[in-house]
Amino acid sequence: GLDAGDPLRRGLEAAAARLLQAEQELTDLDREVGDGDLGTSLSRGARALLEEVADYPGQAGPAAVLRAASATVRRSVGGTSGPLYAVMLMRAAAAVPEDRPVGAAEWAAAFSAAVDGVQEIGGAAPGDRTMVDALRPAADALAADLASGLDPWKALQCAVTAAREGTQATADVQAKLGRSSYLGARAVGHPDPGAHAVTLWLAAVADALGA
Ligand code: ADP
Ligand code: MG
Ligand code: MG
Repeated sequence: GLDAGDPLRRGLEAAAARLLQAEQELTDLDREVGDGDLGTSLSRGARALLEEVADYPGQAGPAAVLRAASATVRRSVGGTSGPLYAVMLMRAAAAVPEDRPVGAAEWAAAFSAAVDGVQEIGGAAPGDRTMVDALRPAADALAADLASGLDPWKALQCAVTAAREGTQATADVQAKLGRSSYLGARAVGHPDPGAHAVTLWLAAVADALGA
């Protein structure tokens, strides 16, 4: 099993708990610009993860844990978000070292690789009004701030700020991809729900790891 004090477990649980808490908010937002299922989808995944996380193979290291989390998400989350989150976790797993403790810069590189995966599979670039508008700036900020010597916890806070700003910017953009693209100008004024979800869980992870 995976130790309750393991930082990766604490991060996964914090993200899941925040998404559960935000179920209604994400439903309402996805109803405005999409089909309204995002809150339900992500909550299903969050619940499944909270149920299964204690049984993840902690002894096998973070890569194995991330692969297990990806399997949980693939099984429990539908829509567009399910496969994209599953890929995100798989790519992160592939990027972390299997056989030794993972350092801050390696976590940042894994996050960046995870976002690369989402962009490859979903075909979205920043500015297309998707979750990539939160993920890409957050991953880039984290890597850049760590490289310039910033304290890891402060770098994570800056990544959250970058995600939040990226999400806010989506409110001014017409979607090119995903369901809200069908709405055209009607989506303008509402932030992209998937980007908003990213900002919520990333902020929760940062709080959990900084505390
Ligand atoms: P749907 O109901 O449209 O299948 P979800 O409700 O699960 O999808 O997720 C919607 C979110 O998925 C959007 O708000 C957006 O952030 C994200 N999304 C949609 N298309 C893409 C894409 N091609 N690449 C990355 N993210 C996307
Ligand atoms: Mg939806
Ligand atoms: Mg849907």
